[in-house]
Amino acid sequence: MSTFPCPLCDVALEIGTTKKQKPYMICEPCGLQIFVRYQKGIDRLEELSGREVSLMDGFVVCKSCDVAVRKSLHSIQEPLFGKAGLYCPSCEELLLKAPPNWKEKRKG
Ligand SMILES: [Zn+2]
Ligand SMILES: [Zn+2]
Repeated sequence: MSTFPCPLCDVALEIGTTKKQKPYMICEPCGLQIFVRYQKGIDRLEELSGREVSLMDGFVVCKSCDVAVRKSLHSIQEPLFGKAGLYCPSCEELLLKAPPNWKEKRKG
């Protein structure tokens, strides 16, 4: 089952499929509905949902290594030639992109 985090509350939403075979997500607490109508968006969603699936709340899981990394600002790494985010300690794959203001948040 693929999930995608709600952009408002960050809860993992189950990705459903419409009658027209397009993916959609509904966040009941937020009253948010997301429909992805174009192929470009569907491709992006598949890519992102594959990377951002979380089995446990507060963790991101690397599917290839079966390694869980805690979602915490202190776990964020910023490689010289890469994006800031949470990386798998085994294969060094980017598992979750850091929010744009993570540095300010980390300073607290
Ligand atoms: Zn929500
Ligand atoms: Zn990995």
